[in-house]
Amino acid sequence: MATVKADLDTCMGYGNCVLGAEDYFDEREGVVIVLQEQVADGDVPRVEEAVAACPVMALTLQKS
Ligand code: SF4
Repeated sequence: MATVKADLDTCMGYGNCVLGAEDYFDEREGVVIVLQEQVADGDVPRVEEAVAACPVMALTLQKS
């Protein structure tokens, strides 16, 4: 299990994170919404990709 968090002060609302992980992220009025913080093991690779796609590094994925 991993946990994903967003730094809302850093997020610029580009929406890159939503692509490919729309069940974890949404973007509204220029700010990301984390729909679920707990990432199932099988979803870690694509959430990792979404985190890496953020141009301002507003997302962090913590693996336990
Ligand atoms: S990709 Fe980064 S800047 Fe864009 S909405 Fe997601 S968290 Fe925010």
